[in-house]
Amino acid sequence: MDSYNSGNPIGLGPRHRKPKRKYFAKLLIVLAMILLPIGGYIVYQYLASTQQQASVKPVQSLREVPTPNLDKARVEKWNGITKKVAYLTFEDGPTALTPDILKSLQDQEVKATFFLIGSNIDEQPDVVRSIAKAGHYIGPHSETHDYDTLYKKKQYVPEMLQVQKQIKQLTNHSPLLTRPPYGSTPGINKSIAKEIEQAKLRVWDWSIDSMDWYYKDSAKEVAKTVISRAEDPVEIILLHEQPQTLRALPAIVAGLKKKGYQFSIYDEDFHVPYNFAKFSNL
Ligand SMILES: [Zn+2]
Repeated sequence: MDSYNSGNPIGLGPRHRKPKRKYFAKLLIVLAMILLPIGGYIVYQYLASTQQQASVKPVQSLREVPTPNLDKARVEKWNGITKKVAYLTFEDGPTALTPDILKSLQDQEVKATFFLIGSNIDEQPDVVRSIAKAGHYIGPHSETHDYDTLYKKKQYVPEMLQVQKQIKQLTNHSPLLTRPPYGSTPGINKSIAKEIEQAKLRVWDWSIDSMDWYYKDSAKEVAKTVISRAEDPVEIILLHEQPQTLRALPAIVAGLKKKGYQFSIYDEDFHVPYNFAKFSNL
């Protein structure tokens, strides 16, 4: 209504207004010419600063990374460096050599895992206590170490539970992780695997055989075997409580450290299956 009255019939309106509109339009163009570059500059600065923030990643030191949680299936990278973890696993103890192995590990500030045999535990209960006291992991490795008894006669779970009880009496901890004598394949079939699962036990084979059972006279060959085979970010190393293995230990630890490995013990809270048969429930 207002525009009709003032604008059209008399003719004054448009004439009066035209110069005003032109003036405003010019003013707007001038303002735009001034303000647009300034605005653009501000937006550009803002974008640049946020982009810079996004490209700067916080540096996390390796010490802040929880080492026990690492496993074969979960390889983690920190600042572009893949963490490498080695699990040293000693079988068939405790033996007369265990104290020397413990001393060697202590000297090199390394933790390991010991899979013990029931009858050996009875002979050296104090040694078992000292393994636990030093912070190593202890797991059952059966009572008989006999293939037919464990797998054909299906005594795997009863024997492991028996050894678990022995370890619990000495260390106050019921370990879950077992190491199958001769490895899980072909001994552990589906039905034994089911029994193991029901008993809430776990199974770990190994990724590197040190061949210490083969190179009985050569610590050098044992060390060479382990170090040359260590390639994956996580390695589980099979060792036995033997003199050649004890002699090879400093070279093994030094060689693996040189390749960037840290040493860890099994963590029951972060289990990941690692068995030759690839049973996901073990
Ligand atoms: Zn064994």
